[in-house]
This record gives sequence, C-alpha cells and structure tokens, in this order.
Amino acid sequence: MNNLTRFEMILRSWCEINTGSRNHDGQTQIQALLAKEFGQLPATSNVLDLPTHPALHIKKNRPKDAPKLSILFVGHTDTVFSQTHSFQSVTQLEGDKLSGPGILDMKAGILILLESLKTMESQPWAKDIYWEVLLTSDEEIGSPDSKDWLVTESNRFDIGLVFEPCLENGNFISDRKGSTNIKVTTKGKAAHVGRAIKDGVNAIDQLVSFLGDLVSQKKEGLIINVGTITGGEKANIVPDYAECMINIRGGVESDINGVLEWMEGYKPNIGTLEIECLGLRPPKPLTPEVSTLLGHLKEAGTSLGQPIDWESSGGVCDGNFMAAGGLPTIDTLGAIGKGMHTDTEYIDLTSIEKRVALTVAFLERVYRAQS
Ligand SMILES: [Zn+2]
Repeated sequence: MNNLTRFEMILRSWCEINTGSRNHDGQTQIQALLAKEFGQLPATSNVLDLPTHPALHIKKNRPKDAPKLSILFVGHTDTVFSQTHSFQSVTQLEGDKLSGPGILDMKAGILILLESLKTMESQPWAKDIYWEVLLTSDEEIGSPDSKDWLVTESNRFDIGLVFEPCLENGNFISDRKGSTNIKVTTKGKAAHVGRAIKDGVNAIDQLVSFLGDLVSQKKEGLIINVGTITGGEKANIVPDYAECMINIRGGVESDINGVLEWMEGYKPNIGTLEIECLGLRPPKPLTPEVSTLLGHLKEAGTSLGQPIDWESSGGVCDGNFMAAGGLPTIDTLGAIGKGMHTDTEYIDLTSIEKRVALTVAFLERVYRAQS
C-alpha cells in the first residue's frame, strides 16, 4: 500500500469518529485509537485526568544519557463539529484532496506528528532527544482544562511544536495576537411603555450607551468586536435585561488588560452593568528564540525544495499558552488545506508526506545547532 492510500485510510477512521469538544464518548474513542497508534513508538501513554476534558499524554521512554534536546509536541483531538452537525463524513475531492470534519484542524496534523516521530526515532540522533506529546480535547473551546498544564509544564522543554494547519497560502504563523471573550450584562427594570414608562429602567439603552463609550478604547493593533447582542422581550415593554459578547484581540497583553480594566471600572448612569471575562489566551510574540527556530525551518525547507515563509495572525491556539509558559514554539506544522471550521474543510493529502519530511529535517537542524 502506498503512503497516500495509507494516510487516507487512517484519516477516514479518525475523522469519521465525531470528536466535537463536548462529545466525551467520541474523545474516549479517538484517544484509545491514538494511544494504540502512538504505541508503535518507544513511549508510554496515559490519559490525563482533567476535570471535563481529559488529554492524551504520551511520554518517550527516558534515554539512558541526559537528552541534548527535549521537545513538547502538542495537538488537539477535538473539532468544532458537534454530533448534531450535518458534516460527519469523509469524501474524496478531485485531485488528491480529502474533505472531512476536523481533517485540516487538526487530525491530519496529528498524523504528521505521528509519522514525524516514527521517522525521527529511526535516526541515530534520536537517542539524544527526549519528547512528550500532549493531545488536548478542549482547544476549540479555549482549552479551559488543559491551559494550566500547557503553561506550567512548558518549562521542562527546550522547544514546542504544534501541528495546527498552516495558512491557506502555505505560510507559517510567526506570532499571534492574544484573545479574550467578554460577556457584558446590563440589568434595569421592566415596565409597561404606555402606562408606566417612568417606572422602567431600560437595560438596552444602558448597554448601547456602554458600547458607544467603548469606542474610545479602540487603538492601532487592537481588535474589539461586538459579536452578539440580545435583550428585551417585546416592543411595548421596557427591557430589564440585555447582554452582549465581545471579543478583544491584541499583540500586547497590557493593551487587552487596559480595556478589561476600563470595562470593570465603567459606571452606568442607571441600573447595573456586569462584566464577565470568559478566559484569556495571552499573545504569542515573535521572540528572538522563535526567530531562530523559523530560520532553521526555512533552511530545512530550502534543503527539501519547500519554500518557507511566515506572517502574523490574529488567530489563537494552544501555542499561545506554551509561549506564556516561556517555551519557544512553532505552531503551524500541520497540513495544507482550506476551509477550517466549515463543512468545506479539506486537506491536500500530498502535503502530509512533505510536512513530515520538513518536520524531521527541521528537528535535525535544531538538534545539530544545540549539540
Ligand atoms: Zn486547531
């Protein structure tokens, strides 16, 4: 069986198990399957017992001598597609394209990671390398359970690699903005509009005037997006409740915190206003250490005839938490494809073998530079 056929078979079996972030049975199923696949490596695996979203943790058997390079590999088994979504199966498109739920983001990335480890472990220099793999199951909902592990354990390693898909043009992501979601709730007092307007306190008016004032916090490099807004019941009742969801993204953490502080200090003219911060992913800056890694990646790409380039992104991933833990991390070593988070998501199957070769050539360069 050639590699393309083999990769297609593996991806079909992985993608046709629904692993939406809240499908716990699906997570258990894929974790068992992956533990078996990674069991072909000189390693042991166990499931980290996190509160609601357990993660699969695989550790290489400790080399005899102290390792010269230790690496944390990270991926996620969850997808944005719940069990009730219509997109559940894998289909072959023209050319070597394969479409399926979570195939690009990021089951093909997990396959690239697995194949890279197999290839690397067949090299003589692998004896000097120690690695662990963490496959989280809550990345698509902000890694509420796995973020602490990622931040605190990252300092045990020299470098971090995440197998999120690269950008559609094939470019890597050098740095990422931080991101936070905020829920703003205003409360007033309901009243009949015709008979008792004076008794009412309009919660929607309050929310609208808050959002008007929020514009003063906009600045270069900072994104403030009001994504949803709800409230009220009927046109002839003064609304006693309104809420909105806001996403803030910025490259500098203090910029994001500045807006949060402004929100928390905001005093409405009348009624009450509550701010709830639903998790923060800190920015992932382009540090000198990351630049050095990107340099090695470019050289590895050149040696294989794969031109490598990179750009910044407003998107976030688990790499943000690893960077917050001080770990120099490249987080887009996954497959090439299009349409992530939509039902047209697909990968170019031929990119798997290329990215495996790139990952191994890159790691050999990092190892040689380190030892
Ligand atoms: Zn992802």
